[in-house]
Amino acid sequence: MAKLVRETFPVGPLGCNCSILIDPTTKDAVVVDPGGDGDTILARLKHHGCTVRSILITHAHIDHLGAIPDVQKATGAPVLMHDADRDLYENVGMQSRMLGLPTPALPDFDARLKDGFSLSVGGASGGALHTPGHTKGSTCFHFAGERLLITGDTLFAGSIGRTDLWGGSFDDIIRSIKERLMVLDGDTLVIPGHGPETTIEDERRFNPFVGESA
Ligand SMILES: [Zn+2]
Ligand SMILES: [Zn+2]
Repeated sequence: MAKLVRETFPVGPLGCNCSILIDPTTKDAVVVDPGGDGDTILARLKHHGCTVRSILITHAHIDHLGAIPDVQKATGAPVLMHDADRDLYENVGMQSRMLGLPTPALPDFDARLKDGFSLSVGGASGGALHTPGHTKGSTCFHFAGERLLITGDTLFAGSIGRTDLWGGSFDDIIRSIKERLMVLDGDTLVIPGHGPETTIEDERRFNPFVGESA
């Protein structure tokens, strides 16, 4: 089976990593965290000539949501997110006012995305891992066959997400990462919500919060 094509690039004023995953054979695609710069995202989708089947959201912070309306309108794809972040999603206006950003007119989302929810991108399959801590609904997207893990703001290269915001819990994020992420294959590529990519192996060895020396 052909490996997924992946493109990841920072979008919006806070540099949220948006990823596009594409099955190169069927041209089915998903967009993860369209946080801003809708025109850029749509141009990349057009470049790849792909059909977006779903818009996956790791968690409901404004910097991961800003271009949902643009991408949703252009593709008609459903937005999938964990229901535990509904309050944040519905209070996006408050979030955007705090950061001085325009408030996106968000469509309703599909809340079937729970722990263990099956994801597919053409012939590739994956699953959702509910990893609360940064927010209550924070969810990672794991494509085991691709050795790929998208972690949102739960796990970063050498760090973890902040837990001092609404719904955050330090104990929960540590437990989520140790029990759900650190147990994955070491050669799994980790795409965080901000900053550079890493691997599970590197985070096991060097991450000061959840690694071997923590
Ligand atoms: Zn966040
Ligand atoms: Zn973020």
